Amino acid sequence: MITHYGSMERAWAEIDLHKLEENVKTIQNLLPKKCKFMAVVKANAYGHGDVETAAFLNKIGVEAFAVATLEEGIHLRKCGIQGEILILGYTHAGRARELSQEELIQTVVDREHGEALNKMGFPVKVHIKVDTGMHRLGESYWDSKGIGKLFLLKNLMIQGIYTHLCVADSKEEEDVAFTKRQIQHFYETLREIEKKGYPLPLVHIQSSYGVLNYPELQCDYARIGIALYGVYSKEEEVKTPIELKPIMAIRSRVALVRKIKKGESVSYGRNFTAKRDTKVAVLPIGYADGLPRNMSGGQVLIDGKKAPIIGRICMDQLMVDVTDIPDVQKDSVATLIGKDGKEERRAEEVAANAGTITNELLSRLSTRIHRIYVDS
Ligand SMILES: *Cc1c(COP(=O)(O)O)cnc(C)c1O
Repeated sequence: MITHYGSMERAWAEIDLHKLEENVKTIQNLLPKKCKFMAVVKANAYGHGDVETAAFLNKIGVEAFAVATLEEGIHLRKCGIQGEILILGYTHAGRARELSQEELIQTVVDREHGEALNKMGFPVKVHIKVDTGMHRLGESYWDSKGIGKLFLLKNLMIQGIYTHLCVADSKEEEDVAFTKRQIQHFYETLREIEKKGYPLPLVHIQSSYGVLNYPELQCDYARIGIALYGVYSKEEEVKTPIELKPIMAIRSRVALVRKIKKGESVSYGRNFTAKRDTKVAVLPIGYADGLPRNMSGGQVLIDGKKAPIIGRICMDQLMVDVTDIPDVQKDSVATLIGKDGKEERRAEEVAANAGTITNELLSRLSTRIHRIYVDS
């Protein structure tokens, strides 16, 4: 059954929630038994629709979520999402009341942040972030004294402590050594905290690549984002390859087909010139829909065949060469990401083609693309 949240007349995303369930199971198989699956649904669930995704995950038993901002957390709560919701990013202490009321868990990004949250006078559930080398959020790993002081603040209900790895996706020797140092620093900090007599809360380290390349770590949670959506960030191999099933396909209708003569040009800047008489299909999807403008030079699938993108991608349109695909006409369906017949355009290829990673490609897909959910 297909649930329509819009139409399939211009540009749309088909999202197969059953494959989401398969991915959860595949990833869970890699995790130690006691490790809880924390589904990272920030940025509209990497473009897949945060509420639809989280509600489905709730239904199949996932009870821990992560978002980036307070608003994302409140939105999920207002839409009835159950379980833990951890905010990975910074929230101003002035919003402690909402954190408390909506039963959201806030990341303490450094000691000052923890103290400010405590001063507001509302009991707030928190996870403490420890910086072990990424130098983004987190209190420095070497300041276990400062971290320990957070345990004395009466309005902070410390339920977790975590760090984030910054080169877990790399298999370069130097990067592996760096990652191992990060992990070691983190565990040393935990031991220091225990030595000071504070009870150790739940512990987590890994995101998708942390699990794929360091599956041996024994944590209480794994924060899984990109892998949940069935794609790798990029095409390179990982230590523990698993079969991920992409859950999203992006499609568009052909608006019109026109013929141009050899020597004529296409699109802004005239940087494509036809080397032969060419049949051009215009697709009503462009960079305002979230396609990278620099994926010009890539290809789409129509009637199970590859059609190269020609000329610059526009805000609302792009053009493809369909000279070699005989039956293409107005309303034919083009696939920008996903399967069409025997051919497939994987998000990893499209991202690589545009010089980025799938995380960025998917999370930037705009709300102008209708999401259609397949859930039974
Ligand atoms: C986004 C994010 C994740 C999820 O990362 P993936 O690589 O998509 O699995 C995990 N932890 C933190 C702190 C994040 O910001």
